[in-house]
Amino acid sequence: MNPVKAGPLVLVLLLSVLVAPAYAYLKLGVRVGTRTVSLQWNAFPIRYFITNRGAPGVDSAQFESVITRAFSTWNAVETSETSSQLVGFTAASPTSGDGMSVLGFASRPDLERVLAATNFIIDVTTGEIVESDIFFNTAFSWSVSPAGETGRHDLESIALHEIGHLLGLGHSAIGETEVVPGGRRVLAAEAAMFPIAFSPGSIADRTLKADDIAGLTDIYPNPATRRTRGSISGRVTKNGAGVLGAHVVAFNTRTSALVGGFTLSDDGSFTIAGLEAGPHVLRVEPLDDAEVDSFLDASMNVDLNFRVRFHDRVVVVPQGGGTRGVELRVVPK
Ligand SMILES: [Zn+2]
Repeated sequence: MNPVKAGPLVLVLLLSVLVAPAYAYLKLGVRVGTRTVSLQWNAFPIRYFITNRGAPGVDSAQFESVITRAFSTWNAVETSETSSQLVGFTAASPTSGDGMSVLGFASRPDLERVLAATNFIIDVTTGEIVESDIFFNTAFSWSVSPAGETGRHDLESIALHEIGHLLGLGHSAIGETEVVPGGRRVLAAEAAMFPIAFSPGSIADRTLKADDIAGLTDIYPNPATRRTRGSISGRVTKNGAGVLGAHVVAFNTRTSALVGGFTLSDDGSFTIAGLEAGPHVLRVEPLDDAEVDSFLDASMNVDLNFRVRFHDRVVVVPQGGGTRGVELRVVPK
């Protein structure tokens, strides 16, 4: 069984709100009244501390270099604009709420399926992230070996995923799993933000995929990106009614990039942004490769009863614009 890379737990100052997904891949959002605001950093560089405690097999200097590398991987995405800066070491806990963003190890034997998790302090009126902490659970064995180590989870791979949360991304559903006793085994994942980790020893998740890049680019586009990338939006329907929680995947036939999104309202509407311009094949499928609540709020009435379907037309994404009104009709299983 593979432990999950935990979704973000959200700590909110002053107000209690539900976490609601906003658009594709997912972006994280909070519901404010009737609208959803995306979580995002407004000030760069993101300043973070790391704890001065290591874990078996990982000293604090090794931890620092792995975390710096994982941040750099996100910051290097050419179509987006993010930056980060290590402020220094701290003895503070990586779960505190003290105004400092802290990354470090924590002993959480109670969380026996959680490799790592990301917490936030946000301004709930604007969605601005003002603090985010990441802990890596010392109940698991960790590796910083360049080639990976049998039986140990690759710290850089999991850090890349958690820093994706810290930046405001939710989980991607672009992955295939099989059910095994006690959980699921990942067969393939085309997103660092897939919620379930590869088996210990794997270093496959040290790189970002097209879906991760589209998600980051949607939140933090650079000026050139606004002119070159585009979006697809529309609805998924079954017998004329909207389908909630359907996974829609756009496949770029020129670059083979796969980018996913979800229908997030009762009318079955979806938007996938941050796409490279060009022809795309669309596929819609039920969320069945991880627990539904890995992706969407447990209170959402997600529909899993429909068959995988390819759209009957190729959809062209225009540069700096969007193709709207695509209707994907599905039928019950
Ligand atoms: Zn996660």
